[in-house]
Amino acid sequence: MDFFDFHHHKKNITYGIYNLDLGITPRSHLYSAGIHPKDIDADFMEDQFRWLASSISENCFAIGECGLDSIVPVPQKIQEKVFLRQIYLSNEVKKPLIIHCVRKFYEVISFKKKAEQAMIIHGFNKKRAIAEDLLARNFYLSFGKAVLYQLSLQDILKAVPLNQLFLETDNDDFSIEELYHKVSEIKGISLETLNEQILENLYTIKNG
Ligand SMILES: [Zn+2]
Repeated sequence: MDFFDFHHHKKNITYGIYNLDLGITPRSHLYSAGIHPKDIDADFMEDQFRWLASSISENCFAIGECGLDSIVPVPQKIQEKVFLRQIYLSNEVKKPLIIHCVRKFYEVISFKKKAEQAMIIHGFNKKRAIAEDLLARNFYLSFGKAVLYQLSLQDILKAVPLNQLFLETDNDDFSIEELYHKVSEIKGISLETLNEQILENLYTIKNG
């Protein structure tokens, strides 16, 4: 059985969504392309958006990762501007948004009404209240390595509807199969059912 890796940065993984680095030429497998908050360069913003526009193709599954990050030194106003522009791009090209968010969940939620496509928070490992607020507003949550060892996150995962869920390895070195096993155990469903559900979710967000 193959297990879809919703968000990763590894060239050797072929079944999943590879996150393209800024300025890199798209590849033949499925990928996402976006301007990460840490990469925003206000002086070269138009070049960055030109690269993004040129990266939109059939293999581009989503715009991202993009979003808001309270730790990177780029001013919030500029981050919000770049994020909003990527939301409008996602509306225009009809592709979902993979969101990177550090301590800016309520700001991201406030942008949700501008988006016509699905928004997926990648690498979710925050508190239950935040998860509930995001889920109530129809965000999808993608979980990674932390699920393997964080009991509080496992607990949150129990309450996440199967039709708002994705799984990913991101930058971490472990096998996505291990995560699928863990999540099927936590959710009390078979691996096959989990796998089918994830593929169904992918279909749903692809077709708006
Ligand atoms: Zn990532």
